[in-house]
Amino acid sequence: MIKKIAIYGKGGIGKSTTVANLSAVYANNDLNCLVIGCDPKADTTRTLCGRRIPTVVDTLKNNRKPSEEDIIVKGYNDILCVESGGPEPGVGCAGRGVIVAMKRLENLGVFDKDLDVVIYDVLGDVVCGGFSVPLREKYADEVIIVTSGEYMSLYAANNIVKGIKKLKGNLSGIICNCRNVDHEKEIVSEFASKIGTRIIGTINRSNLIQESELDAKTVVEKYPESKEASEYESLATNIMENKVFTTPEPMDDEEFEKFFKSFLE
Ligand code: ATP
Ligand code: MG
Repeated sequence: MIKKIAIYGKGGIGKSTTVANLSAVYANNDLNCLVIGCDPKADTTRTLCGRRIPTVVDTLKNNRKPSEEDIIVKGYNDILCVESGGPEPGVGCAGRGVIVAMKRLENLGVFDKDLDVVIYDVLGDVVCGGFSVPLREKYADEVIIVTSGEYMSLYAANNIVKGIKKLKGNLSGIICNCRNVDHEKEIVSEFASKIGTRIIGTINRSNLIQESELDAKTVVEKYPESKEASEYESLATNIMENKVFTTPEPMDDEEFEKFFKSFLE
């Protein structure tokens, strides 16, 4: 069975890092992975490929009929890496780039390959067209939200939940990507339960993750024996074994404020 996962979360919260490390774990377990960066920044696959790869949108500018090799780069442990790309900052809609990339991959028969896991790194901004494409077009079957215990990250997560509910997405859980705020795991766990789900994995904050990123590697590749790598391994297992999917219920703004403030007392 092929698993098709979309990772959502506030800008800068750690989506791309999570997607890259998760796929590295799956590839280490001999699963065939396809990673699709759906962000015009096109930086999801950098730590898997050791460099930035050309985007589908850019490739199409010079070559109307690109081959598989032109738009898919084999990264760490043969992970298939794609960056949709998109408009220059300030012009156009990121959703278009994702649709263009997906149609091209479909035409090339990429989804008919023997794949075990497809992971989408999705733009977190709910008002952007890029947000809805993977779910609306049914490219992804399940959604996971990355958040820390910080106010703005949880606020964004709650807005994302509104979007997921509208699109009738299946939420598998919340990843707590820690920023070391007080009572962090408690806050995120309570948030998860309020919206009808739970924490599916926790990644502690660590300089090793950033150090690996500087070397254009995942921590799973660079420090396979580290505590950090084993946290990504546990997360990957939890996601694989999960059987509980929910259509989440967002909090209204007043309820959200009350929820968050209750941890400040
Ligand atoms: P964007 O919305 O801009 O695409 P993002 O959600 O994809 O951002 P990342 O690019 O994955 O976020 O991460 C942002 C920064 O935070 C990176 O430098 C990354 O190395 C760092 N980071 C992510 N998770 C952790 C962690 N658990 N510990 C330490 N640093 C982390
Ligand atoms: Mg990113």
